[in-house]
Amino acid sequence: MEPTTPQKEWEKLIQTIKENYSENDLDMVRLAYDFAEEAHRGQRRASGEPYILHSLAVAQKLAETRLDLPTIIAGLLHDVPEDTKFPIEEIKKNFGKEVATLVNGITKLGKIKYRGIERYAENLRKMFVAMSDDIRVVLIKFADRLHNLKTLDALPPDKRLRIARESLEIYASIADRLGMGQIKGELEDIAFKYVYPNEYDWIRQILPKKYKSKEKHLNKTRKEISRKLAAENIPIKILSMHGRTKHIYSLYKKLLKPEIDRDLSKIYDLIALRIVVPTVSDCYYVLGIIHELYKPLPGQIKDYIAQPKPNGYQSLHTTVFADDGEIIEIQIRTDKMHDEAEYGIAAHWHYKEHGSIAKPNLPWINELVEWQKQIRDNEQFLRDIKMEIFQDRIFVFSPKGDVFDLPDGSTPIDFAYHVHTSLGNQYVGARANGQMVNLNYKLKSGDVMEIITDKNRRGPSVDWLEYVKTSMAKNKIRTALNKMRK
Ligand code: MN
Repeated sequence: MEPTTPQKEWEKLIQTIKENYSENDLDMVRLAYDFAEEAHRGQRRASGEPYILHSLAVAQKLAETRLDLPTIIAGLLHDVPEDTKFPIEEIKKNFGKEVATLVNGITKLGKIKYRGIERYAENLRKMFVAMSDDIRVVLIKFADRLHNLKTLDALPPDKRLRIARESLEIYASIADRLGMGQIKGELEDIAFKYVYPNEYDWIRQILPKKYKSKEKHLNKTRKEISRKLAAENIPIKILSMHGRTKHIYSLYKKLLKPEIDRDLSKIYDLIALRIVVPTVSDCYYVLGIIHELYKPLPGQIKDYIAQPKPNGYQSLHTTVFADDGEIIEIQIRTDKMHDEAEYGIAAHWHYKEHGSIAKPNLPWINELVEWQKQIRDNEQFLRDIKMEIFQDRIFVFSPKGDVFDLPDGSTPIDFAYHVHTSLGNQYVGARANGQMVNLNYKLKSGDVMEIITDKNRRGPSVDWLEYVKTSMAKNKIRTALNKMRK
C-alpha cells in the first residue's frame, strides 16, 4: 500500500462529512484541522508517521459513524492538551465549550497504568464516569483505540499485548453493551490476532475453504428469495454476510462452546443472509414467506423484535434448510434496526432532530448514571459489574495479583498451563483462596490461585485431559506426554 499523506486523509475526511451531513458549515472542521496540525507539527507516531495522521484517522472513524460535528472536531483535537503545549483553555477559546468538554473528557480518561484488578477496575470506572458525563467521549475513545490497534506493530511486544488484551476485554465488551456491533467486531478482530495468535491463524486457515464450498449455495438461495419476494411489492435489500463481513473473533468464541467443540460444520450462521425491509410488519411477513420456501430448523427461530437483546439488538433470526439441504441463517430487520445493530448507541445521532439534545434510549444507559453513583466508592459493586460484563470469561489472580482470563469452566490445571508450561507439567496440587482444591474444581472470577509444584515430577498424567477446558492446556499436556513416551 502506498503511504498516505495528511492532505489525502484530510480530503477523505471532508468527503465523508459532505456525504453524511447536509447544510453544515465546515469552516470549523478546517479550523480544527489547522489547529491540530500546528499543535502536533514535528511529532511522530511510534510508526514514524506524522502524528496528525492519527488525529485524522480518529476523526474519519467518527465521521463514518455519522456522529455530529462537535464530536468529529473533538476527534481532531483529542490529543492536543495531553501531548502538545496548547492547553485546553486554548481549545475552549477557539472551538467553544462543547468541543472543549469532549476533549477534556478524553484527556481525563487518560492513560491507565495499573496492573491486575486495579487496572480493570480503574479503566472501567473511568469509562463509566466519562459515559455518564457525555457518551460521545467514549465513542471518541473507541475511535482512538481502534487506530492505536491498527498501528500496534510499531510498539514493543509487551505493550502490544497489553493494549490488545485491554481492547478485547474492556473496550469490546463495552462497545457490545452499547450495541455497537461494528466497532465491537473491529476491535475484537484486530486484538484477537495479538492476544491469541495461534488461534487466529487456525481460524484464518479453516475458514476460506469452508466459505468457498458454501458460497454457491448462498448465491442460489439469495436469488431464489429475491425472485419470490419480487412479487410481493416490498422494497427489500438482501445483504449476504460471509468472508470479511463476518467477524472472526465472535466465530472463534462460538467454536469454543462445548456443544460446538471446535467443529466448524456445527456453526449454522457461518454464512447468513440479511434481509432489510421497511417496516416491522414486513419483517414478520417476509419470515412467513421464507418458511414457505424452506423448512426451518426447529428451535432456531428467534424473535429479537418482540424481545430485544439486553443491548437493544433487534431482528428476526431463522435457520433453514435451503438449496440442497444446505443450512443457512436468515436475519430479517428494518433499516432502522440494521443501523442500530451496526452503530448501536451512535445511531441515535443519525436520527437526532435538529437542535434536540442527544438522549440515548437504551434502558441500559439509564442505569449508568445510577451505577456511576454507586461505583465511586464501592469496590465490590464494581467487581459485580465487571463480572457481569465479562460473562463467559473468568478472571483469576496469581498470588502476586496478576490477572489471567480464562473461559468459563476452566480448572486449576488450565490455570497452571496458562501461567507457564512448567507450572502445568510439575503440578501436584492447587489452592483456591488458600483452600486446597481438586483437579475438577471450576475456577471462579476473583479466585486467587496458587499452584503447588514438585520439581521432580516427570510430567502430566493422561487423565488430566479430562479435567481441562482450554485447548491450550490440552495441547501442552499432549506435547509433554509425547515427549515422555520417547
Ligand atoms: Mn489518540
